[in-house]
Amino acid sequence: MKRIAILTSGGDAPGMNAAARAVTRKAIYEGMEVYGINYGYAGLVAGDIRKLEIADVGDIIQRGGTFLYSARYPEFATQEGQLKGIEQLKKFGIEGLVVIGGDGSYHGALALTKHGFPAVGIPGTIDNDIPGTDYTIGFDTAINTVLDAVDKIRDTATSHVRTFVIEVMGRNAGDIALWAGVAGGADVIVVPEQEFDMKDVATKIAEGRERGKKHCLIMLAEGVMPGHEFAEKLSEYGDFHERVSVLGHIVRGGSPTARDRVLASKFGGKAVDLLKEGKGGLCVGIRNEEIVAADIVDTLENGKHKPDMSLYTLNQEISL
Ligand code: ATP
Repeated sequence: MKRIAILTSGGDAPGMNAAARAVTRKAIYEGMEVYGINYGYAGLVAGDIRKLEIADVGDIIQRGGTFLYSARYPEFATQEGQLKGIEQLKKFGIEGLVVIGGDGSYHGALALTKHGFPAVGIPGTIDNDIPGTDYTIGFDTAINTVLDAVDKIRDTATSHVRTFVIEVMGRNAGDIALWAGVAGGADVIVVPEQEFDMKDVATKIAEGRERGKKHCLIMLAEGVMPGHEFAEKLSEYGDFHERVSVLGHIVRGGSPTARDRVLASKFGGKAVDLLKEGKGGLCVGIRNEEIVAADIVDTLENGKHKPDMSLYTLNQEISL
């Protein structure tokens, strides 16, 4: 394969730039040409494609977001959209594609491969909710961003003897809440993967208060319910001086951590290795600290993301 392209798609994640940089530089190192596609699948269909040189990916390893921009483009789920995309790729003489994004983006890569165009997926999302990998690009940065906020919220919670419900992103996955909850010393973690009883939450806060505890931090994954709704339901069990903090999109931004930059660089290098061998229909990942590649169809159809629920149990044991 002599000419490949990269796009970023779906929700942006810190480290996507580091991955695009690694793909570009590694491909050039291997004697290939690289094209960047702006705005994900929307830009692919529109032909918003340009050649990338070594310098085009300079000074971006430390930046959040994606210099290739991203977009939601539901039209790519149709055969018509996919064929138009392939037409554009062929027009530019591109033979393989690297897609950096979440599972929706993987479906796009899968569709292209099924049409005979080799595409490789790199998991990029803060939610860490993609099967086939233990970690996604952006997750480590996101939990560190949440942690920074939690430490600050703790100061004010203690000063005013308040209970804070901290709502964090993650779509339907509880990974961000679990990791940031344990790291931030949350009293209660509430995630979609585990049922909870509001009465138990209220009892726990009350017991802490009786022991003279000043603050109470509840880490709530957005997939459970909105923070304000949670606080309202909690208030039915007593007055806990509750406040709600919705961290929202702040968690998606910022400079990627060292771990995310290294992970992104490894994924980028691996994706190029695969395309160089003419292999498509694969997604890269990290499993037990080893960089792996798996079949996209199998990953999407049979793989299921499972958060580390031992963190949930542990938190119950250590957040007395
Ligand atoms: P995140 O979950 O982090 O937001 P994502 O990649 O899952 O990332 P989606 O919005 O689900 O985000 O998907 C991104 C894009 O991938 C869509 O806008 C669409 O262009 C394409 N896509 C999604 N599903 C399919 C599909 N079934 N077939 C082809 N393309 C798809």
